[in-house]
Amino acid sequence: MGDTPYFVTLDEALDICKKTTLQNSVDTVHLDSAHNRILATDLKSLVDDPPFDNSAMDGFAMRHEDTLNPPTNLKIIGTIQASGDQENITVSEGETVRIMTGAPMPLGADSILQVELTSCSGETLTISQESMPGYVRKKGENIRKGETILSKGTVLTPSNISMVATMGYNKIPVFRKLVIGIIPTGNELRQPGEDLQPGEIFESNAYGISGLVKWLGHTPKRYDLVEDTMDKTRESLDRASKECDLIITSGGVSMGDWDLIRKIMEEEGDIHFWRIKLRPGSPPLFGKWKDTPIFGLPGNPVSSHVVFRMLVAPWIRNLTSSFEPVESRAFATLATNVKPSKDFLTLRRVKIESDGNQLKAYQETHQGSGNIASMALSNALAMLKPNTDYSIGDIVEILYI
Ligand code: AMP
Ligand code: MG
Repeated sequence: MGDTPYFVTLDEALDICKKTTLQNSVDTVHLDSAHNRILATDLKSLVDDPPFDNSAMDGFAMRHEDTLNPPTNLKIIGTIQASGDQENITVSEGETVRIMTGAPMPLGADSILQVELTSCSGETLTISQESMPGYVRKKGENIRKGETILSKGTVLTPSNISMVATMGYNKIPVFRKLVIGIIPTGNELRQPGEDLQPGEIFESNAYGISGLVKWLGHTPKRYDLVEDTMDKTRESLDRASKECDLIITSGGVSMGDWDLIRKIMEEEGDIHFWRIKLRPGSPPLFGKWKDTPIFGLPGNPVSSHVVFRMLVAPWIRNLTSSFEPVESRAFATLATNVKPSKDFLTLRRVKIESDGNQLKAYQETHQGSGNIASMALSNALAMLKPNTDYSIGDIVEILYI
């Protein structure tokens, strides 16, 4: 191993990973294909929003000063629909115009009274209260033309896509999706759907990691199971390094004789660190295989998943200037006892429930790193700091999974 950093903290691991960057090219996509893509530039609005003063209610537009002494009768002089068919109509003293939500305000009017607060007889409108200036939506009150609303790195959620459309864009620059190769290793693995022979288990990590890659907005490329031989391992790594931007392997990074990802990386690759102070998930390595960055994730299913969330995902987000969505972290009160560990950041799988007052974290499942049910039946990781005692009632930071 020589000088390779060994047993680094999660922060140190991330700093080491960040020294490796990838070519970041940009695609232009239509709004229809923008969901979960990552914006590659700051985006300035092409228009004011709203583009003109308009009514926030179905009702009547009028001069507020004409309504100060209700009840009052006003003369209805026209109708403006949302399409703005009569926008040049002018409301003078004692007059009103029937108006639909979103329709441009007529000249002269400065307020609205919603239809349900009025009564109408022929051309005469009777109102029994003052009209509302606040129900006029003012030009540019939401956003100004030229204002930067979404910044580079924004993940395009449904509301962000509506924002982009409101700003007047039908196509936008987004970062190209990375192609991320996923290679499961281990002689004991079988594809789900096949029959298990004695000593075999179903391969599950590559499917879970593939979902995590899609969740991050990139493209997974799942490779066949690799037998634990140096030749097969080399063959698969060579192929993935030609076809992918990044390689993620599962299994084979611990100390065992058959942990061949570690062995081949030591002998033929370039390791930037091996092992981190994280539990579960201490065995991973990061480095390069023939110029392609590679994460060797642990084989234990919980470990591979949490190392992806805690290390791989932040690094990939950093490549595209994006960040962990804030809603995925929160603070909760421990409702059951949890066990931290010395020197290691420890991730306990917990179920977060609200008691109506606060979030509570319940650890309900066996916490083995091989027990994927502990992830599937929980909805968060409680992040327990090293060398810290935790008791029921303490507040812990959680990461929703
Ligand atoms: P390893 O790191 O290769 O020694 O694997 C550690 C544990 O994880 C062993 O019990 C393996 O059987 C299991 N494991 C390794 N790879 C996978 C996988 N792709 N899916 C499910 N379990 C796995
Ligand atoms: Mg193995």
